[in-house]
Amino acid sequence: MTTLSQDDVRTALCTIVDPVSGKDIIANGMVSGLVIKDRNIGFAIEIDPADAEHMEPLRKAAERAVLALDGVSSVSAVLTAHNAAPASQPEAAPGAPPKPTDQPAQAPATSLLPDVAAIVAVASGKGGVGKSTTAVNLAVALSSLGQRVGILDADVYGPSLPRMLGITDKPKPLANKRIAPLEAHGVKVMSMGFMVPEDTAMVWRGPMVIGALEQMMREVEWGALDVLIVDMPPGTGDAQLTMAQRVPLAGVVIVSTPQDIALIDARKGMNMFAKVNVPVLGIVENMSMFICPNCGEQTDIFGHGGARAEAERLGCDFLGEIPLDVAIRITSDSGQPITASEPDGPHAAAYRDLASAVLAKISTATMRPAPSISID
Ligand code: ADP
Repeated sequence: MTTLSQDDVRTALCTIVDPVSGKDIIANGMVSGLVIKDRNIGFAIEIDPADAEHMEPLRKAAERAVLALDGVSSVSAVLTAHNAAPASQPEAAPGAPPKPTDQPAQAPATSLLPDVAAIVAVASGKGGVGKSTTAVNLAVALSSLGQRVGILDADVYGPSLPRMLGITDKPKPLANKRIAPLEAHGVKVMSMGFMVPEDTAMVWRGPMVIGALEQMMREVEWGALDVLIVDMPPGTGDAQLTMAQRVPLAGVVIVSTPQDIALIDARKGMNMFAKVNVPVLGIVENMSMFICPNCGEQTDIFGHGGARAEAERLGCDFLGEIPLDVAIRITSDSGQPITASEPDGPHAAAYRDLASAVLAKISTATMRPAPSISID
């Protein structure tokens, strides 16, 4: 079998023409994150989100072109939103000697986070469903179960972990030029929010997102951890793809509200992870039901139970449900997550149940040694 090179793949992709610009997708700088793992190929095609609806044929054509290469057994191309102009560095001409950036960008996972036993992403199809709240309380709950836990805020567009964990310090550089993570409620924490105020609008181009995430993994002295929780940005984009392709995720927990799952946002998120072969550990239904603080009556504001039914339908696990309770909002928005501030209450118990369910899932799942990519 001949060994496939990045140039072979790029040459094949030169035949695919972007209908918007009329240029081929390599010349137009639209291909990023190219991964070659044995006979499996993965890459992203960066498009303007406004064109997303019309780009599916292009994605499929790109997959077909690479699949036609000798020795390729599977190809996964993912469309990723990119508003900015294509990278100023032109792509290497096919056959040209590879520049440093043309090397497979994916460092072996072990060099990024060598002492982390399981990396678990917490994701959602859209914003505002309580993903960060769930990630934080899950992390604290895991720590209360005796795990060594870290939490990485991959939501570079809207980092909220410093506020939710009540951290106002900045991380300190260590003598070895690495960065010490901060610590709160027994959990090690790293977030872009330590560098940039939460209300500062950040405009990130795809490569910047990838760079920031890699830095927070590679240059932070996480030490030995049993679990690293990664709070993903909402939706599907560069951050998700980076994490899915560059670190061996043990799996992803999808947070959904009952109405979100009905509106298929959560399903889109799940499909994206399935596409890049990241196991979906299961779905959590957040804001599942409202318990009146005065009379104790339960009201199913968003139609409680949708996520459980959807999980069953999709054949994935239902990991638990967290009620809509103002105490969860107040504690998480004031830096005192309810798992830490009211550890004996019912909500902390619900998060511990979630933590136990996640632990059970990751103890049976093996960490993937490297990205593995499959055909649709
Ligand atoms: P996301 O990360 O999905 O954007 P957040 O975790 O930031 O969402 O939550 C959005 C808002 O909803 C926050 O003010 C948070 O405190 C609140 N919230 C999240 N989960 C709950 C819940 N179960 N009960 C009450 N408020 C919640």
